[in-house]
Amino acid sequence: MTHQMEEWMRQLESSVNTLEKLQNYVTVSPGEVRGIKVAEEEGVRWGTTPYFASLMDPKDPDCPIRRQIVPSVLEQENRYGVENYLEWKENRLTDEHRPDCIARQYHDRIAFLVTDVCAMYCRHCFRKELVVVRGLRFRFDIEEGLQWIRDHEEIRDVLVTGGDPFVLSDDKIEYLIAQLREIPHVQMIRFGTRTPIVLPQRITPALKKILSGNHRVPIWLNTHCNHPKEITEETARAVYDLLTCGINVGNQAVLLKGINDDPETFKALHQKLISVRIRPYYLFYCEPAPGIDHFRTPVEKGAELIRDAIRGHTTGLAQPMYVVATRIGKIMLMPYYSYVEKSDNEYTLRNYKGEITTLPNIPE
Ligand SMILES: *Cc1c(COP(=O)(O)O)cnc(C)c1O
Ligand code: SF4
Repeated sequence: MTHQMEEWMRQLESSVNTLEKLQNYVTVSPGEVRGIKVAEEEGVRWGTTPYFASLMDPKDPDCPIRRQIVPSVLEQENRYGVENYLEWKENRLTDEHRPDCIARQYHDRIAFLVTDVCAMYCRHCFRKELVVVRGLRFRFDIEEGLQWIRDHEEIRDVLVTGGDPFVLSDDKIEYLIAQLREIPHVQMIRFGTRTPIVLPQRITPALKKILSGNHRVPIWLNTHCNHPKEITEETARAVYDLLTCGINVGNQAVLLKGINDDPETFKALHQKLISVRIRPYYLFYCEPAPGIDHFRTPVEKGAELIRDAIRGHTTGLAQPMYVVATRIGKIMLMPYYSYVEKSDNEYTLRNYKGEITTLPNIPE
C-alpha cells in the first residue's frame, strides 16, 4: 500500500519535462527541439508522467500522444484565439464578485479550481493561460472557495477541477470532500481529473478508502482521454477501482485535428472507453483559447464524426454529447441530421444509413 502511494508521487516528481528526459523515450525531431526551446524561453510549462511518456511512439513525431505532450512552435501563432481568454470566458471582469477559485456560468453549479498543477500539461489545454503559460495568477484558496459555497444556497453541484485536483494529497482531498458534504445545500461533488489516463497509479487503496461509501452527497468523476492509445490495463484497473467506490467515471474528450478527427480513430476511441467502463460524456470543440489554433477543426467536424462513426454504427452508450464551452455556458453542436421534414400530420426522419421513416405529428 505504501509502495503504491509512493509510486504516484514518484511519477509526479520524475516528470518528463526536459529535452534530455524526453530523449530517454523518443527520438526527438528538430521541430520538437524548436518547440521545446521556445516553450522554455517563454517559461511555459510542459511535461508528463514517465508512465504516460512511455506510451509515445518513439519514432513518430506525429504520434497522437506525443503531440499532446511535446510543445510546438505553432503555439506562438494566434489567429483565432481570444487574448485573456479565461477572464473573458469565465466573465471574471464583469460579473458578481467571486473568489478567484470559483468559476460560475450557471445558477445551480460552479467549477471550483483547487490547484494549477497537473500531472500532464496538455498542449491543447483551454486553461493554458492559467495552467501552462501562467500569465494569469490565481489564488487557489480552498477556504475562501468553501466559504463562498456555504454562503450561496443555490449551489447544489460542485465541480472540483484545476489544474488536476488529484495531484493534491490524500489529506487535502479527504478534507475537501468532508467540508463539501457538510454543506446542506450541496447535493453532489464532481471531480475533473486526467489522472486515470496520465497517472492511473494515483488511484491507490488509500485514496479509494477516502472516495468510497454510500453517502448523501455522491461523487462523480470525469476524466480526459482523446485517443485509444491512451487507454491501458492500468487505466482499466484505476477505473474499475473508482467504480467499486461507487464513483461513475465519464470522459470529456477534446476534438483535436490530426489526433482524433478521423472516423476510424474516433470510433475506436469511444469503443475503447466503453470497454474499460468509461462512459463518454462530452466531446468538446477546441475552444478559441490562444495558442491552440493548430489543434482546431471546423465546427461541423464533431457532429459529422458522431453521424458517420458512432450513432447507429456502434453501441449507443459510446456516444458523447458534442458541445462547445462558451462564456454563456456549454452549447450543443448537434444539428438535426436526422430531421428531414415536418408536415401537418407527420415528421420525416433519416437514420444513419440514409433510410427514411415517419413519426406522427401530435398536436399539443
Ligand atoms: C463545465 C462547467 C460546469 C458543468 O457543466 P455541466 O454541463 O453540468 O457538466 C459548471 N460550471 C462551469 C463554470 C463549467 O465550466
Ligand atoms: S490535465 Fe486538464 S487542466 Fe491540466 S493541462 Fe491537461 S487539459 Fe489542462
